This record gives sequence, C-alpha cells and structure tokens, in this order.
Amino acid sequence: MYDLIVVGAGPSGSQLAWRFAQNGKRVLILEEHGVVGRPVACSGHVSTKIWDTIPYNEDIVENKIRAGVLHVGARSYEFRKKDVVSYVLCRERLDKYVHGLASEAGAETMLNTRLTGFTHHKDNVDVHVYNTQTKQKQTIRTKMLAGCDGPASAVRRTLGLPDPKMLHGVFCYVNARDASDAVELWFDIPKFFSWKIPRGASVEYGLAVEKGSAKAYFERLLKQQNVKPSALHAGLIPYGLLKRVSKGRVFLCGDAASQVKPFTGGGIVYGMTCAKIASETIDVDAPETLRAYERAWRRELGKEIVAGSVLKGVYSTPLMQPLVYFASKLDAERLHMDMPTTLVKPLRNR
Ligand SMILES: Cc1cc2nc3c(=O)[nH]c(=O)nc-3n(C[C@H](O)[C@H](O)[C@H](O)COP(=O)(O)OP(=O)(O)OC[C@H]3O[C@@H](n4cnc5c(N)ncnc54)[C@H](O)[C@@H]3O)c2cc1C
Repeated sequence: MYDLIVVGAGPSGSQLAWRFAQNGKRVLILEEHGVVGRPVACSGHVSTKIWDTIPYNEDIVENKIRAGVLHVGARSYEFRKKDVVSYVLCRERLDKYVHGLASEAGAETMLNTRLTGFTHHKDNVDVHVYNTQTKQKQTIRTKMLAGCDGPASAVRRTLGLPDPKMLHGVFCYVNARDASDAVELWFDIPKFFSWKIPRGASVEYGLAVEKGSAKAYFERLLKQQNVKPSALHAGLIPYGLLKRVSKGRVFLCGDAASQVKPFTGGGIVYGMTCAKIASETIDVDAPETLRAYERAWRRELGKEIVAGSVLKGVYSTPLMQPLVYFASKLDAERLHMDMPTTLVKPLRNR
C-alpha cells in the first residue's frame, strides 16, 4: 500500500510528492499525459518567491523581469526596479525539474494513467485508474490521496466539493527575439487584462476572460499589436477562496484547490507553497491532520486570495479604472505580485 497517491505531475503535485518522499513516505504520482510538462497552458511568470519552494535553477529561466508597463484607459505608467522582481520560466522545464526532484527522492510515477474514481474506506482509499495506452483498468490502494489534478479536478468533483469560478485564458508565442525586461499589461477587457511577456527568444501575447469569447478578444489584441501567432495555447484559471479542500482521507492542492491569485491568475507559487505546507502538516496515518493543513494554508494565503479578489473587482470596474491608474502610479512599486495585502500593509515584511 502507498502512503500517498498524488494525482497530477504539475508543479503542485510534484512538489507534494517530492516533500513526502523526502520524509520517507512511499509515494506514487499518477499523470494522464505521456510526458511531464506537456501540453503547456501557462506563461510561467512567477515572483522571486518561487525559490522558497524549489532550489534555484538557471536552466529553467527564460527571462528576468525588472519593469512593468500598465495601460489603463488612455494612460500608461511604467515602473522599474533595480532588482529582479519576477522570472519568466519555461513551464515545461519547470514541471520536469520539480518532477525530477520528486523522482530523485524516491517517488514513483505512472504516466498515461488517468484517475477515473476512488472508493473511500475507513483506513485507506482505493484509487481506480485507466491506462490510456494499454486500455487497462487497475485499482491501487493508498493511505491518503491528493488531488493536484488542475482546475477541472476529477478528485474535487468525486469528493462532491463545489467548483471554483473560472477564467478562460489564451496565449501565443511570436517568434521574435525580445531583450526587454518589462512585462506589459492592458486593462482593456472585461474583468481581466491582456499581457505581453518578453521571453528572450520569443514574445508572448495573452489574455483571460470570465465570460464571452476569449478568441474574439484575442484576435483584437493580435490586430492591435500587429502580430501573427505561431501556435495558440489555452487553459482554465480557477479563482476564489474555496470553503473546503479536504474530506476523509483525500485533500486538494494547487489549481484543484483554487490556490490561485485572483488578480493575476498565477497559481504556480501559491500551489507549490500549499504543497509544502501540506507536507509539513499532514500525517498520512492521521486523517484528522487534514484540518491542520486547511488552517495552515488559509493562514498563509487566505487573506491574499480575498485581497486579490477585491483588487480584481476594482480594476474590472470601468468607473474605477482612473483610480487604478492613480493607485498604480503611487503603489505599483509597493505591490508584491503574490501578496496584494502589501498595498495596505506598507510595513509588511517582503
Ligand atoms: C493561459 C494561462 C496562463 C497562466 N500563466 C501563469 C503564470 O504566468 N504564472 C503562474 O503562476 N500561473 C499561471 N497560470 C496558472 C498555472 O498554470 C496554474 O496555476 C498551475 O499550472 C497550477 O499547477 P497545478 O500543479 O496545481 O496544476 P496543473 O499544472 O494543471 O497540473 C495538473 C496535472 O494533473 C494532470 N491530470 C489532470 N487530471 C488528471 C487525472 N484525472 N488523472 C491523472 N492526471 C490528471 C494534468 O495532466 C496535469 O499534468 C496560467 C494559466 C493559464 C490557463
């Protein structure tokens, strides 16, 4: 019997598997795709806090960001810092890197293996899987099950927990070298924004929408910027604080638990931070410790998620946008991209 089965080899799942395996636990990762890190549906733009969760690795860094240009209505504002404020990571290499850490620590992986359901017992969980290549079904027993299976989490749905709200994100790469170190944002679509990220060897254009056609807004963005995309990538972005992310011997982590910044859609750092917290609070032999996990991750990120939702509400309201412009002039340099409470807590330790 496994101590922990982790569904999903994304950054949250591999971080969780790595930490539990390091603690001497018998861990199995189930991944429905045949290659870790593919397909890519993420920009990989993260704050420096990423290195609190994994050892620094220059090989996964595509660009270092020191500046931002915000376009609010007809106005634009640029801020610049001396130090690196964020990193543009190759998302495929990030996933492979964190998964490599988990494997080196002893975690096993079954690729092409999809969770189809699970049966809860008092002392264990029977996990039902399907191999998409061999078409074989199998049941594997574990003490505890972790759903790190992304925004449309099958584990969350099987537990009967409600879905979070979702944004639809879409982006493309344009094959042009861009040595800039500034990310650009346009607050010109309902309830979110469009972005341009210099990736060194290419430039990324993207946006997310809550309702309506992401494609229509995206075509408008490409026209405005006069660019022709090489390939399109798309995915869901969950947001909002869920009341509960565990039940019995099963818990959620990462996008599955909506551990995502509502005002930017970024979930890599939050997901891996929560995975780290899970490894510090959960004892696979004591399901009651899931309550400690629920308390600990909310203590760390609950206020940030609520503050991030408020911030999203403010910049999404056209009448408030002039305010956003003036606030950004005053505060963009103070706002930590993972901690929106830094806007109201100037003395907070960053
Ligand atoms: C357009 C877009 C741009 C984004 N840009 C950024 C950004 O710049 N910075 C940032 O921090 N975040 C960004 N995000 C969000 C980021 O992608 C997620 O927060 C992050 O991937 C969450 O990691 P995760 O490990 O929780 O889930 P995922 O990365 O979604 O991993 C889930 C894994 O589970 C597997 N899986 C799913 N179901 C099953 C199943 N039934 N059985 C087995 N395996 C399964 C999947 O194949 C996948 O590998 C973006 C998202 C989108 C859509």
